[in-house]
Amino acid sequence: QFHKSKGQHILKNPLLVDSIIQKAGINSTDVILEIGPGTGNLTKKLLEAGKSVVAVELDPRMVLELQRRFQGTPHSNRLKVIQGDVLKCDLPYFDICVANIPYQISSPLTFKLLNHRPVFRCAVIMFQREFAMRLVAQPGDTLYCRLSVNTQLLARVSHLLKVGKKKIQTPAKEWDGLVRICFTRKNKAIGAIFKQKRVLSILEKNYKTLQALQTSQGNGNQLVADASVLGDADELTMETDENDDGDDDDDDMEMDDGEANGSDFKEKVLGVLRQGKYEEKRSSKLAQADFMHLLSLFNQAGIHFS
Ligand code: SAM
Repeated sequence: QFHKSKGQHILKNPLLVDSIIQKAGINSTDVILEIGPGTGNLTKKLLEAGKSVVAVELDPRMVLELQRRFQGTPHSNRLKVIQGDVLKCDLPYFDICVANIPYQISSPLTFKLLNHRPVFRCAVIMFQREFAMRLVAQPGDTLYCRLSVNTQLLARVSHLLKVGKKKIQTPAKEWDGLVRICFTRKNKAIGAIFKQKRVLSILEKNYKTLQALQTSQGNGNQLVADASVLGDADELTMETDENDDGDDDDDDMEMDDGEANGSDFKEKVLGVLRQGKYEEKRSSKLAQADFMHLLSLFNQAGIHFS
């Protein structure tokens, strides 16, 4: 049971979680502060990316759920959960803060972070759109206000991602493309569907187009790279965009020896299916969350459906 009044909007979309992680530019040596971990969907990925996570959570039920979730996993000794109000507790040392926060505390939390010492590298925070736009507003913009000027005095602020209203940010075309392919024969093994030449050639074409675009545009992660070289605290706000591919630099390894030929690409696709154990599964038995997971795995491998 989640309470919207307590700001408990849980992140369910693995694509969005992946985008957040990617935009954050986490190093494996980072101590990460997470505020309001809730049920831990973001926490899990943070633990995989960084050295350790300190999570501050107000709701004791969530704290219990979080502890239960990670108990006995290899991550458990790298997660420290502090139960309490983030606005009232002393924050521990951290290198980077990543959080999907309860919106009610946006303003006091922003200033608590900006005044935190020692200075941390950056913060990637999900705010309500208007608050985010006020943080980054420039002189002359309608939303330019005291919050903008005060924040920008203390940090470099960038807008990273635009998140859709319902927080379901699966780009509609990507989703539609994947589901269409999977349901061409709903009782056929997904591995067999993806081995079809027609399917592989569409995906390979998308793959190559994207590779070419990325090569010509350089590194898409510039905002984060920019921010992380600063010695000062940086507030990074985010919003996702439907067109945000979110995985700009995942596929370098595959491209080392030039263009993938047809059978390499087929192996890449089958590798993704095996990774998520979908090769033998049938669409008629898969849940919405499975398709989302599969789409996320494909996208991480640089494979797109639109
Ligand atoms: N991070 C989770 C996710 O993205 O799925 C949950 C995000 S939810 C928007 C915000 C979380 O912050 C909730 O779990 C809520 O209980 C917690 N919370 C609310 N007020 C808080 C406060 N003052 N200090 C710490 N945590 C708080």
